[in-house]
Amino acid sequence: MSYCRSNGDDSDVYLVMTGHGLLCFGAGWRLEETHPVHKDSLTITSRTEMIRHLGAHQAAGHKVPDRAFDRLSEEVEYLGDFCGDES
Ligand SMILES: [Zn+2]
Repeated sequence: MSYCRSNGDDSDVYLVMTGHGLLCFGAGWRLEETHPVHKDSLTITSRTEMIRHLGAHQAAGHKVPDRAFDRLSEEVEYLGDFCGDES
């Protein structure tokens, strides 16, 4: 399931949940070239840390939709902060 995907509209960032945590693919090579946050994909197992991470994308000028922040905040409330591999 994806929280947001790079769509050329309101999101430059592609973020999905995997079995190992939240996987962020960055903002694409063009934006990462000029306004770098990370070029390689990045897995984070803390939802609050991912919220901060999305803030770093915004600070770099990358578009991140409010719904991604809202959904992560809701999940922290209902599911907890940890979202890594629990097996
Ligand atoms: Zn990222």
